[in-house]
Amino acid sequence: MIGGDLKVARRGLMFILSSPSGAGKTTLADRILTKDGEIVLSISVTTRKRRPGEAHGKDYFFVSEDEFIRMRDNGEFLEWANVFGHFYGTPTRLVQDTLSQGKDVLFDIDWQGAQQLDEAVGEDVVKVFILPPSREELERRLRKRAQDPEDVVQKRMMKADAEISHWAEYHYVIVNYDLDESEKLLRSILFAERLKRRRQVGLAAIVKEMIGED
Ligand code: 5GP
Repeated sequence: MIGGDLKVARRGLMFILSSPSGAGKTTLADRILTKDGEIVLSISVTTRKRRPGEAHGKDYFFVSEDEFIRMRDNGEFLEWANVFGHFYGTPTRLVQDTLSQGKDVLFDIDWQGAQQLDEAVGEDVVKVFILPPSREELERRLRKRAQDPEDVVQKRMMKADAEISHWAEYHYVIVNYDLDESEKLLRSILFAERLKRRRQVGLAAIVKEMIGED
């Protein structure tokens, strides 16, 4: 809707969030999804083990490697990747259904998935990278998560470095100094992208009528 009585249909967009773990991406995604009824989470399929507190069908669809490969070979994924030893994939169905209703889809996927979606669908993709405020802060957050041995923490830091090295492939970058502020910034990006002229389907016809052209 652009105001007044005019209702303009919208073409849904694919809103991709990537970051190293520990940068606040999941919290930001949850906040957007809770407050915005026009965007739906793409729930990925994964072969990694379920962590405590995670639910099948809510956080991920947890499947065996055989099942994942069957789905992949059956062409059921829009993109898929091996992320540090586990398979992750985006099921095509939910994305297509959501976009066809004129709603947006939010993706919490890594740089490999972001690249593939960009190549496959191009202009409907908006890619946002979330950076931690500093290396020290990232390390502090990764340590706080669990009382892990030093080598595990260092492995996490190396994974973070690998993900961060792709920051320049994204349309937008938010340095997450403060969650409330970052949430505002993320919503601003989403709102502005929704207003892009080419995403407002039927606008030309409405304006034509508005200015009295035949
Ligand atoms: P985690 O196992 O910690 O939930 O996720 C590990 C990484 O895999 C994160 O960077 C997450 O964004 C990414 N990921 C989750 N689902 C998908 C997916 O469907 N495709 C791709 N390419 N990456 C994913």
